[in-house]
Amino acid sequence: SVNDIYPHDVIRGLNGQARRWLHLLVKFQEIYKCPADFVSRSPGRHIDYMLYEVLPMAINADLLIAVAVRPLEASDSTSKIRIRNINSSKFADREFLVPSKGDVAIDASVNEWSNYFKSGLRGALELLRRKRGGKEFSPVGMDLLVDGTIPSGGGLSSSAAFVCASALAVTVANGEKMVDKTELVELAVVSERAVGVNSGGMDQSASVFSLRGTALYVSFMPTLRTRAIRFPATQPELTFLIAQTFVQADKHVTGPVNYNLRVVECTLAAEVLAKKLGLKKPLPKDAGPLGVSLRGLQDLYYEEMEGVADNNKTPPHEFHKQLEHILQLSKESLTATAGYTREEIASILGITIGSLDERYTSRFPVHTERFLLRQRAQHVLTEALRVLDFMSLLESPPEDSESLLRGLGAILNASQQSCRDLYNCSCPELDQLCQLALGAGAYGSRLTGAGWGGCSVHLVPLDKVEAVKEVWEKEYYRKHFPDISDERLREAVVVSKPGSGSYLFKV
Ligand code: ATP
Ligand code: MG
Repeated sequence: SVNDIYPHDVIRGLNGQARRWLHLLVKFQEIYKCPADFVSRSPGRHIDYMLYEVLPMAINADLLIAVAVRPLEASDSTSKIRIRNINSSKFADREFLVPSKGDVAIDASVNEWSNYFKSGLRGALELLRRKRGGKEFSPVGMDLLVDGTIPSGGGLSSSAAFVCASALAVTVANGEKMVDKTELVELAVVSERAVGVNSGGMDQSASVFSLRGTALYVSFMPTLRTRAIRFPATQPELTFLIAQTFVQADKHVTGPVNYNLRVVECTLAAEVLAKKLGLKKPLPKDAGPLGVSLRGLQDLYYEEMEGVADNNKTPPHEFHKQLEHILQLSKESLTATAGYTREEIASILGITIGSLDERYTSRFPVHTERFLLRQRAQHVLTEALRVLDFMSLLESPPEDSESLLRGLGAILNASQQSCRDLYNCSCPELDQLCQLALGAGAYGSRLTGAGWGGCSVHLVPLDKVEAVKEVWEKEYYRKHFPDISDERLREAVVVSKPGSGSYLFKV
């Protein structure tokens, strides 16, 4: 057993990741009185989208699930899941039964950690049934122990890592030998929606597909595709610092005025712009949360105006020009700087307020008097341009490292400014962390994840890492949280090089 081979004092002698993995396996054996069969792992990610391409990176912080399979008794048609957490004071032990037919029940109205496992379980079982020709089968029981190091609710997508690692664990436990990464991502995207928050696909992609030393180029059209972009070697070495604000937007409370409202605003911006530009066909259906997007508007515009049949085939530099043109058109057409009311939007679209609400604002709750279509469209379109610019810098870097790093940094800074002023998803704490970092030598700083608190990401030359950390401690953490513990202070900042995606480790 793991216990015999690696007794506790051996584990104490190890450091870092090796120690954490062994601790998980030993704990597993202590709790369940048998060794784990395998560990499923998925990392967090940093950097965001609107069906335009994105460029997230996996970080080194991750979520591990140690798993032992409990085969079914022949007579038994339900199986049991027992799930525990290394951090048992925050995440209490849970047990539940998996029905052999139908869906796993999830109560999304409560904020319950095991829901994220259940949503991965539900998605994986659907996939397994599909693979078995739609036949019902009895899923195995499982004993599970979870250990996560991704700060949760902090914009690093601990939820996606959890769902991806769960779906991977369930798929493998039920006998699949090969797990297709695209299938895994697609099922994890759909699964996480069961927990009640709208998710776009990037988090799960980054968690599953990332490769060490790369950023992941994710495109959603026509279907989800990814490509790893290697970071060029630079002098000084390129490092990302991730700093938490320790302020958190509770999505269940602020979703209706922040996150979900932005989804609605971006969708309405696309519809209103399409009307103002006189497009004839309806916007194409896509995988966005409300079925249409600014990306779809761009495709339709170029189809109707210039006969571009498949805009997915347009080369990047042409696409860049298109984006700039759509940006210009959006500035000329969406002129209401103080936003649009429901009445105004309904009248532009030629529909009743009732059908506007039914189509756009009833899927998830939003509360607002005015929809800031102009600002949101500008943010989304310029962000798409910045992703393309960031990519081309990585793919054809300038000769000297300094101009590469300055170039990348300037894009991050422009992004933060747009998040703050046009998308209104920053907050004073995020702004302050960015200001402090830039003053201490960072090349570029921005929020990451949904915003409104959570985390920030900073491109920092290796020789400035200590200076940046120091100024944050003094000017941010100790000032905002005078009683902060040393442990919490250590957790506040993660030094991260682009890390690797999901994998499975057989014990
Ligand atoms: P964001 O979605 O902003 O990128 P996030 O994914 O970390 O950040 P949420 O989507 O709110 O934030 O998900 C956080 C939830 O995921 C927690 O409330 C908890 O239920 C679950 N979770 C995350 N990490 C763990 C963990 N290590 N153990 C158990 N549950 C966890
Ligand atoms: Mg999340």
